[in-house]
Amino acid sequence: EYEGHGDGVLVTTADGRQRQADLLVGADGINSRVRASMLNDGDPRYAGYYCWRGVASGDAGLPAGWAAEYWGDGLRFGGCTIDGDRTYWFAVQTGPPGGATVDAGTTNRLRALYSDFAPEVRRLLEATDPRAIIGGDIADRDPVAEWSRGRVTLLGDAAHAMTPNLGQGACQAIEDALVLGDQLAGVDAAGVAAALSEYQRIRIPRANKTVRMARRVGNVARMENRVGVAVRDGVLRATPSSMLRSQLTSAWKLPY
Ligand SMILES: Cc1cc2nc3c(=O)[nH]c(=O)nc-3n(C[C@H](O)[C@H](O)[C@H](O)COP(=O)(O)OP(=O)(O)OC[C@H]3O[C@@H](n4cnc5c(N)ncnc54)[C@H](O)[C@@H]3O)c2cc1C
Repeated sequence: EYEGHGDGVLVTTADGRQRQADLLVGADGINSRVRASMLNDGDPRYAGYYCWRGVASGDAGLPAGWAAEYWGDGLRFGGCTIDGDRTYWFAVQTGPPGGATVDAGTTNRLRALYSDFAPEVRRLLEATDPRAIIGGDIADRDPVAEWSRGRVTLLGDAAHAMTPNLGQGACQAIEDALVLGDQLAGVDAAGVAAALSEYQRIRIPRANKTVRMARRVGNVARMENRVGVAVRDGVLRATPSSMLRSQLTSAWKLPY
């Protein structure tokens, strides 16, 4: 919990200790306590799909620099090479929360779910230590118009939790840190509130745009209905790849 006042912020941690500070940056993730104290805007929004992730070891027969994503009916699989020996993968399924359980049968379950996907999907699943597979629900938060108040601000998922469809959650957190650092450089205690206000002015439009875009991509990708999937796949096939690429790469061009 925190209590802001004119000269600083008094922070109380879960073990009851108190710290006085010039500013507080809530970088405490999607279930941020600092955000709850500041905005009181409830729980994250379940996106309608859950996800398993793993890292395959050894040669999965994929070319160097391989990165791909495969979309089916309510199922998605994707990944990319990390280095010569390791390949990161994710497997997404549409459904009610809590579906991405992990136990001794997870590899077999995933093999069955993705049995009609590309052959590299099965190879990646087989090359993954089942004990290292993790699973969880996918959630985000609605964009907000402010995330700084006085001497308190938010950063990363605490400020703008997004679905992972663009691979941008951590990237946006790093951008927050870059801009926040710039705004605080050389500022004394009296200038903190103005610096935090400028930080959110610069960052909120881009972060919120990314939250919305990630949500839209997820809504298209999660489709289960066969007619909807057929229309989606037809539209995607007809869309020039240069257009898709330019939309995606806009996320990677820094405006700062
Ligand atoms: C399936 C999936 C795939 C993803 N893929 C990508 C990707 O490819 N690229 C990308 O950029 N992003 C990706 N992300 C998003 C990325 O993981 C997050 O956006 C990023 O981890 C957010 O960083 P953060 O520091 O804001 O929050 P977190 O990483 O959640 O860190 C918050 C920290 O605060 C601590 N904390 C929480 N509460 C308290 C408390 N009360 N007191 C003290 N400490 C506390 C936590 O222990 C944790 O260490 C993905 C996310 C998921 C779920």
